[in-house]
Amino acid sequence: MTAPRPESWIRVTPAGLHVEPGGFHIDPNRMVERAVITHGHADHARPGNFHVLATLQAVRYGETLRIGEVEVRLVPAGHVLGSAQIVLDWRGCRVVVSGDYKRRPDPTCAPFEPVRCDLFITEATFGLPVFRHPPDGHEIDKLLHSRSLFPERVHLVGAYSLGKCQRVLALLRRQGYDAPIYLHGAHLAMTELYQRFGLDFGELRPALGRPKKELEGQILLAPPGATGDGWAAKLPDPLVAMASGWMRVKQRAKQFGVELPLVISDHADWDELCQTMREVEAPEIWVTHGNEEALIRQAELYGLRARALSLVGFEDDEA
Ligand SMILES: [Zn+2]
Ligand SMILES: [Zn+2]
Repeated sequence: MTAPRPESWIRVTPAGLHVEPGGFHIDPNRMVERAVITHGHADHARPGNFHVLATLQAVRYGETLRIGEVEVRLVPAGHVLGSAQIVLDWRGCRVVVSGDYKRRPDPTCAPFEPVRCDLFITEATFGLPVFRHPPDGHEIDKLLHSRSLFPERVHLVGAYSLGKCQRVLALLRRQGYDAPIYLHGAHLAMTELYQRFGLDFGELRPALGRPKKELEGQILLAPPGATGDGWAAKLPDPLVAMASGWMRVKQRAKQFGVELPLVISDHADWDELCQTMREVEAPEIWVTHGNEEALIRQAELYGLRARALSLVGFEDDEA
């Protein structure tokens, strides 16, 4: 018996990617009966679904379970704590949905595992050859160097609360920075969650209510939206930094009023996307979630079938 073609059982519907023989959606963008979720970012995990399957709360990496007629397994995606690729097996056909992923080591989450498959559905947030992320240690050194140049200014680093904040904390410690690090209130709960999973970030202090004098020369992490608001204006001469793959684009840095752009991304860059397409050895690639065209062309150069998977409601700014 020949295995079914992927498009005969995995379809794009208005609610998102639907796995027909399993009766569930992956990262649906609206309420559905059954959902399998790759990770906790808002563009993937929306509230209100009836039955939800994800890591952290429900299944462990590597456990296989059956939903309808489909075997489902979650394997690490290396994006943020708990992020998963979804491996689907049905009648001899294997499909892997990457969710968001990256390939470089991240001390705060399990590394991406390439899984051989018949169809690989990949994200493409940074799917253009201009996106090549520098080594993250290099970016952290830029921050530490700036701090030594401006010892009286607070270094206010914009970073998303789930993943990026904790990665920057871990990288700072890895580069030998051992002073207390200050956190905006929005980062506290998520960072505590990471600590419950055994991560150690050294001494952290809530920034709230600290005298100006205490914050001089310190590093303070805040959500990207908070770096330009009234709260930030009360800090001692803040120097605004931002940790994001988009900081590769000068226009974006300018738009956010960022003085010190740090190119630190939780998404695969161009080279990692290409490397991954080859490693999973899938003859067919569907591309979603970003810059589809260039990656499709690259897949075709590798001799693969490739197409854009146009999902509604997918937009990424937690890059
Ligand atoms: Zn994400
Ligand atoms: Zn995303």
